[in-house]
Amino acid sequence: MVIVLIGAPGSGKGTQGQFLAKALDCPYLSTGEIFRSIVANQDIEAKLINEYSSQGKLVPSDLVNTVVYKFLIMNEYKEQCVLDGYPRNLNQAEFLDSKQLKNIKAIYFDISEQLAEQRILGRFSCGCCDKIYNRYFARPAIEDVCDVCGSREFKCRIDDEQKIVEHRMQEYIIETQPVVQYYRKCNKLLTIDASQTQEQISSVLLRLI
Ligand code: AMP
Repeated sequence: MVIVLIGAPGSGKGTQGQFLAKALDCPYLSTGEIFRSIVANQDIEAKLINEYSSQGKLVPSDLVNTVVYKFLIMNEYKEQCVLDGYPRNLNQAEFLDSKQLKNIKAIYFDISEQLAEQRILGRFSCGCCDKIYNRYFARPAIEDVCDVCGSREFKCRIDDEQKIVEHRMQEYIIETQPVVQYYRKCNKLLTIDASQTQEQISSVLLRLI
């Protein structure tokens, strides 16, 4: 089964996707993470991707589809995997369908725009172990010290800045919301109330899957 996670930026797909993949003991693939690691390479492909992602725009689908497909044909992905942030428009959803992979299940993280924005704008993570925190909802137990590794270095995603977040939200509404309808129409959609706590969402997810 291919489990597809769909939701606005800040809806918690990343956190829950990693949790779900661990629980199911299957690979987790985040296109956002792949692009952030490519951008760090600073070659021609990195420059192209950065032109889009640094402004909160979607990377062209031809490139995204090619990158994702390379993973999907690997043996460990064929049986079961969790896709976070893909497909993000109808072109990508149709591409995924055309590959006739095993059963596709889409999980929609339903959240208000306002709460999602608040979650993103408060987001920061440990510079050492990547543990995610939020200055409004989930601060480290000891101020400025990572709960997991004790580091005092923290970082923010550059695309979590207000103006870029607004653009990402617009892209989500225009490009990705139709994908929710697409999976709903073919009865492949499960919806989760993503305004709940992390623990509540994790337990609902396990029950659904
Ligand atoms: P994310 O970490 O999922 O919020 O993605 C970060 C950025 O990577 C997005 O704002 C896009 O620029 C790019 N990106 C990630 N996934 C996709 C996708 N499926 N299609 C196009 N662009 C994507």
